[in-house]
Amino acid sequence: MIAIVGGGPAGCLMALMLARRGHQVEVFERSPDPREVPPESGRSINLALAARGLRALREAGMEQRLADLLVKMPGRMIHEPGASDRFVPYGQREHEVIYSISRAALTARLIEAARELPNVRLHFNQRCTGYSGHGRIHLVDAADGREYEVQAPRVIGADGGGSVLRQALASRLGFTVREDRLEHDYKELVIPTLHGRPQLAMHALHIWPRGGFMLIALPNSDGSFTATLFLAREGSPGFGQLTSATQVREFFASEFPQALELIPDLTAQFAAHRQGFLGTVHCPVWHEGEQLLLIGDAAHAIVPFHGQGMNCAFEDCGVLDTLLLADPHTAFSRFQIERHADCEAIAAMALENYEEMRDTVLDPRFQRQKALSLELERRHPARFIPRYSMVMFHDEIPYAVAQERGRLQQQILDALTATPDDVDWALADRLVGELPPLPQP
Ligand SMILES: Cc1cc2nc3c(=O)[nH]c(=O)nc-3n(C[C@H](O)[C@H](O)[C@H](O)COP(=O)(O)OP(=O)(O)OC[C@H]3O[C@@H](n4cnc5c(N)ncnc54)[C@H](O)[C@@H]3O)c2cc1C
Repeated sequence: MIAIVGGGPAGCLMALMLARRGHQVEVFERSPDPREVPPESGRSINLALAARGLRALREAGMEQRLADLLVKMPGRMIHEPGASDRFVPYGQREHEVIYSISRAALTARLIEAARELPNVRLHFNQRCTGYSGHGRIHLVDAADGREYEVQAPRVIGADGGGSVLRQALASRLGFTVREDRLEHDYKELVIPTLHGRPQLAMHALHIWPRGGFMLIALPNSDGSFTATLFLAREGSPGFGQLTSATQVREFFASEFPQALELIPDLTAQFAAHRQGFLGTVHCPVWHEGEQLLLIGDAAHAIVPFHGQGMNCAFEDCGVLDTLLLADPHTAFSRFQIERHADCEAIAAMALENYEEMRDTVLDPRFQRQKALSLELERRHPARFIPRYSMVMFHDEIPYAVAQERGRLQQQILDALTATPDDVDWALADRLVGELPPLPQP
């Protein structure tokens, strides 16, 4: 029997994968069944799904079952003050798109699929309070407050960024977890449909970059959008200054006037929705022998600016599934060896992407380098792939390789755009030709 703590995206997908291999799986989730209780408003309503997540879902037989929930986003729509809206494709091949998907619907479908298998049992309203070694987890039943213990030969901790199992592991093994909280928080707002129609172009991730802060919006399958404001907690502008309806209205009128038109009850939503915090978890140890292992955000929560947290968590599930199949006696320790550098790499790239989204997309040199990257990819598809594309569309390229390769490629882009002159293509071809070939699918 394998016990999984946490029935979020990673816990549910892992349960499904393990059950398909014939394991008996018990999932303990502190919240009620999401199919019966609507999610808390203002809590990350939709997510960007890309190649890594899709691959894991395909491996679990879920791709077709989710097809109707996916909203294609082939690029970014950039809304700059005083300029016309600009659509920038994410990639240059037809399949190089990302998808918006409802978190609640995705989790519900994973739960339904798991429920169809006789060897998975999902226990909702069961909160894990600790771990005391040898596969023993401590739980509390929300219905009656009963405390009990479950012992399983293997425990997988998929209990998210605030993981209780991570804390238990750290205190048992005596290591320190670094949790770097970002100085920026977020708040989600819903852009409703107007007369049943979407108010923005559906097939794009919308960004209103303002240098230092930004608003983004992802489409939902019903034509509404979920917008997210990312803004400093303190300072000016900052959430700390937005405590009254007047302050909120004035801030949006000056920075995002379009949002006031799109969201009639903006100030009410602003007051009602929770202000969420963001951060990166650097946990040096993810397992205790072959009995306890952390996956997903429990092991490596990251900031959301590359849209990769869930994708990375799903990739974890695929890797662990393969390792368990190959050799169950070493799977947990091998998982840490195989994944640690990759997860640190995506954590760093996600932080860098915040600057790109809120700031550098406005920089003409950045725009020139983006166009040049795509041209270099056309000329040298086996040697030059823009870093964003490596992360989002190339699941055969590990995150750590994408990060290092991205660094080398950036040096080439900097050299080729050092002056405003036309690109020296002979130099470009030589520099790219000197790079080693990339992993192939
Ligand atoms: C604003 C925002 C936007 C994001 N956008 C994207 C995106 O576009 N694309 C992307 O890939 N990722 C995105 N992410 C990241 C993504 O949400 C996470 O990486 C993903 O949810 C991780 O899945 P998980 O299952 O590991 O953890 P979680 O989703 O946190 O799930 C953990 C589960 O464990 C349960 N749990 C917690 N504690 C206990 C306990 N003690 N006992 C029992 N159960 C417990 C929780 O109730 C929950 O169901 C975003 C995150 C945020 C905050």
